[in-house]
Amino acid sequence: MINKFKEYEFKISAYELALTTMNFDAMTVAPKLSSEYRNERMEYLSGEYYSIFTDKEFVEIIENLKNDNSLDFITKRKVELYDQFLNKTKNISKEEYTSFEKLKMDSYDAWEKARKENDYKIYEPFLLKLIETSKKLTLKREPNKDVYNVLLSDYEDGMDKEKYDEFFNLIKEEIVPLIKKITDSKQIKNQLEGYKFPLNIQKEYVNDILSYLRYTDDFGVCATSIHPFSSRLSKNDARITTRYNENDVLDSIFSVIHEVGHAMFEHQVADEIANGIIHNSISMGTHESQSRLFENCLGRSKAFWEYNYPILQNKFDFLKNISLDEFVNTINISKPSLIRVDADELTYPLHILIRYELEKGIFDGSVDINNLSNEWNKRVKEYLGIDVPNDLRGILQDIHWSDASFGYFPTYALGSAYAAQIFNKMKQEIDVDSLLRNNKYDEINNWLKEKIHKNAALYSPKEIILKATGEEFNPRYYVDYLKNKFSSLYNI
Ligand code: ZN
Repeated sequence: MINKFKEYEFKISAYELALTTMNFDAMTVAPKLSSEYRNERMEYLSGEYYSIFTDKEFVEIIENLKNDNSLDFITKRKVELYDQFLNKTKNISKEEYTSFEKLKMDSYDAWEKARKENDYKIYEPFLLKLIETSKKLTLKREPNKDVYNVLLSDYEDGMDKEKYDEFFNLIKEEIVPLIKKITDSKQIKNQLEGYKFPLNIQKEYVNDILSYLRYTDDFGVCATSIHPFSSRLSKNDARITTRYNENDVLDSIFSVIHEVGHAMFEHQVADEIANGIIHNSISMGTHESQSRLFENCLGRSKAFWEYNYPILQNKFDFLKNISLDEFVNTINISKPSLIRVDADELTYPLHILIRYELEKGIFDGSVDINNLSNEWNKRVKEYLGIDVPNDLRGILQDIHWSDASFGYFPTYALGSAYAAQIFNKMKQEIDVDSLLRNNKYDEINNWLKEKIHKNAALYSPKEIILKATGEEFNPRYYVDYLKNKFSSLYNI
């Protein structure tokens, strides 16, 4: 039985490697005309991949192993994760599965078209159908549970509305007033505005940052794509992408730092559990905690730039007129804005709060789904204090709903909050500032490997946070971190 199980594991990993490689290729270097031929083959491979999982023999193996008390700890966890995965297709026929996949593809096209024509009405009927189908399929899987709670725990095991409510209420009570205070206080000047940063020099600098973070070409590669992302092909093939903008050097730098946070997690997983379902199942929240920790807690700190800013100044001469403090203040400017992905560290969780409130209301009926665009705009005004001029910068900005990823957004804010708690613990155990200042990022990576990375999803997110910090998840760390950092930055 165990041998058969291992055969399936190997087969599954082969399809995964093929599909992930093709996807990375498609998003980075593949020529435009290649997509049709590739998409057809990828669709076929995805179908085959799905068939392996739903194969009667494999389902039976999992059922049997579930009741086998002789399994070692790692195999037991693997079986548990496969079982969770199989549960998501439970009671759903292949026709229902494929027609939902088709609906998502059509919705994506409608979303793109709606964006092009700045007309939410084109997308609206698809979004309503996605909501209805998500509800229906979730109830088929779990007829006795609250739909949105099931979706929330799909993306972050152990989370539900009650816990997220507590988390977001704290954000509302503490962060919304802080943002208002900052908006009314003296603004920080963006010292980098108006300069041009030639792309070839930016690329050189990105390489400097990569080696500072100890992301090497032994296991990594940094390509270019429209939206930066990271992709694991295997433990020793943890790829990332970034993008370059001549007017904004910070875009490429912070995209890289963020994505390396993800990639280091993938690369530092222990050999015994690497490249299988335990590696694959790292929760969205814990994954994002690593990228946010790199990007914000470490990457926007003064100590990080004490080492790295002089190197940047040597690349772009005009920066010699801007002091380290002015630079560090600039990279931490906070200002309410409309687009989530461009939001600063402080206003970011408010964007997530808005999507969480809407999703919760969509599934419990308290939000009028025929009026979603206005519901969106109303909340942006309430929490961020700004008007949404059009749906492009409102409800049409994110891709996630077109993919029926309801329940996914909250993990972004959760990841930032985990990061603050982990950062707090890290500072107690190692001298973070001195390591950053003295080009010793390897020691930070080592600490994270021991505390978090090596375990991947060997434990639940709740246990991972407990093991790493000695405490259960506590959103207070996040709120305190933001309050301390931004009150001192804005002298309030
Ligand atoms: Zn990320």
